Amino acid sequence: MKYRSTRGQVRGIPFSEAVMMGLADDGGLLLPESIPTLSADELKQIADLPYPQLALNILSRYIDDIPHAELKELVERSYSTFEHPDVTPVIAKGDVYILELFHGPTLAFKDVALQLLGNLFEYLLAKSNAHMNIIGATSGDTGSAAIYGVRGKQGINIFILHPKGKVSPIQELQMTTVTDDNVFNIAIEGTFDDAQAIVKEIFGDLDYKQKHALGAVNSINWARVLAQVVYYFYACLQVQKLTGAKEVEFSVPTGNFGDIFAGFIAMQMGLPIKKLILATNGNNILSRFVTKGDYSAAEVHHSLSPSMDIQVASNFERYLFYLYGEDSARITAAMKTFQTDGMLPVSSEELTQTQQIFSAATIDDEETLKTIGAFSKETGYTLDPHTAIGVAAGKQMRTGSCPLICLATAHPAKFGAAVKQATGDNPTLPPAFEGIDRLERKLETMPADIEAVKQYLDRHVLT
Ligand SMILES: *Cc1c(COP(=O)(O)O)cnc(C)c1O
Repeated sequence: MKYRSTRGQVRGIPFSEAVMMGLADDGGLLLPESIPTLSADELKQIADLPYPQLALNILSRYIDDIPHAELKELVERSYSTFEHPDVTPVIAKGDVYILELFHGPTLAFKDVALQLLGNLFEYLLAKSNAHMNIIGATSGDTGSAAIYGVRGKQGINIFILHPKGKVSPIQELQMTTVTDDNVFNIAIEGTFDDAQAIVKEIFGDLDYKQKHALGAVNSINWARVLAQVVYYFYACLQVQKLTGAKEVEFSVPTGNFGDIFAGFIAMQMGLPIKKLILATNGNNILSRFVTKGDYSAAEVHHSLSPSMDIQVASNFERYLFYLYGEDSARITAAMKTFQTDGMLPVSSEELTQTQQIFSAATIDDEETLKTIGAFSKETGYTLDPHTAIGVAAGKQMRTGSCPLICLATAHPAKFGAAVKQATGDNPTLPPAFEGIDRLERKLETMPADIEAVKQYLDRHVLT
């Protein structure tokens, strides 16, 4: 399988190169040159596979430049860090199925992709005798999942900037109690936007980037999307076995369009998904797009679901590429228009085509809290605010003709304050996190000043 960029200037590259490139060199996003499909018979054959074997089966269809035995070892190691034997268990609650994606080391679904990506990086770097310094800014979830993905790995140092005192207490503890030699937490005296601006400026300095072999782990890496395709297969096949249903629908809480794009790929591969329900909080550029073709940027508002407080969805270009008939020239022009005018053109035909695949709803903070409270009363099960948005949107938009699977993207204890507000009770942390506040911490505090950060990097990067 070869990979190409949505913008058309990069093509014919193998998987390993696509993983190391991250963002395509022409500014676009990398996609496979074709999407492999599975027949109904093939789906039946993989329906009983345990998660790691299913992952290997799906991934092998997209990866032909890593020997099978080595890929198998990488995949098995990546999912051995999940504390549930099913990795991503599916459970029936009320009239929906909950796909629990939060059994990895940081209690959020990003672990599913980043545990694998960390191992892939280490493997590919060792093969080419190279090293990498990962740098990123986080408002919480991505940073901790990335740190746990690469902690202790050879050939990689990671530097994660977070706004001092502005991530949730558990997120801060998760990051700063990782004391491995290759992990560097930087608390910036400023906002998330300050931290993000510093990272962007550092990446914009191409000489500096090259000199220090800087890399990123953001959600546009194709390997992350690919890892997420697997749990759509796993959940759909499980629920079909339980119910005998011909089709299922999924409801997906979305920010960067990464998670739901993986569902779109699974659908194109032949998985019988009737509909993908796209759920956003008040930052709803994506649901406006699906409901009325309006893709215009607005201000970002803070919500109870901070990991979805995003306006410009970095993975959306991948879907648009297919919607535009794989026309790279049109994508390139459209993305330029979006940068200057803050909106994207779609025809009414394209809107209709989008609505055959997706439906969408916007769930505000008030409805999020109501949903957590009501679901807890009805089923005894506690939803985190992101998952609650998916459940609320799913109940609103489901066709009713097949089982509904709601993606649970974080453990409720990760967003304990919102859960307490909704139910009156503090969710309990899993046993692995007990006593985390008494562990040794490793972090450096710095002003929101690019020179201070660069000086720190100069002293600590792998060379
Ligand atoms: C990142 C994240 C999301 C959004 O995922 P996207 O891939 O950006 O759509 C939803 N919920 C939680 C808990 C997250 O960490």
